[in-house]
Amino acid sequence: MKIRNGFVSNSSSSSYLVPLNSFDTVFDLAEKIIDIRDEDWKDTGESPDLNTMKNLQRAKKNGISQDTPVQFSTWNYATWIKKTDKGFLVETCNNHYEISQMMDECGAKYGEDYHDLWLEEYKLGSSSNFFGERFYFLEIEKFGHKKYIKESGGETSEWCSKIGGKGYKCNNSILVLDDGTEICTKCEGLGELE
Ligand SMILES: [Zn+2]
Repeated sequence: MKIRNGFVSNSSSSSYLVPLNSFDTVFDLAEKIIDIRDEDWKDTGESPDLNTMKNLQRAKKNGISQDTPVQFSTWNYATWIKKTDKGFLVETCNNHYEISQMMDECGAKYGEDYHDLWLEEYKLGSSSNFFGERFYFLEIEKFGHKKYIKESGGETSEWCSKIGGKGYKCNNSILVLDDGTEICTKCEGLGELE
């Protein structure tokens, strides 16, 4: 990753609440973020061929509702976008500087996570929680949700614990597809997802 002006070296996730009048649909907002991601990856020469944009266009052509919640790969953490009545809720990675710039420009509220955005109805464990809902995973063109397990303090996402070639634990979250298949898309070679 090229070090940019404003590049956040402490890689973590960021959440935004994007005003509803900034974009027509979830897909429009996703397109903008994927554009930024692809430009970033072109700059670094490390661009993985994830077909994200192509798959988004195909979803449109196939008549999938353009406000369907979507998830796709970004540099370190995946990006999740869901429309709520308060705005488009975006969980993303803070390593793409232009994403935060774009969020500033459209007056999005920032929070370290969605708890900071006063979206209590989306908290973990509620029936309408952000991640419990079905998302369309753009790289694999399948619907599913993030896997959660119960722990004493509540629910937490279940992380992949495979050891990769460099001896590190994977630590991506597990995705549960509609047919019940559980996958870590990073270990399956489909890109680095949160
Ligand atoms: Zn993994």
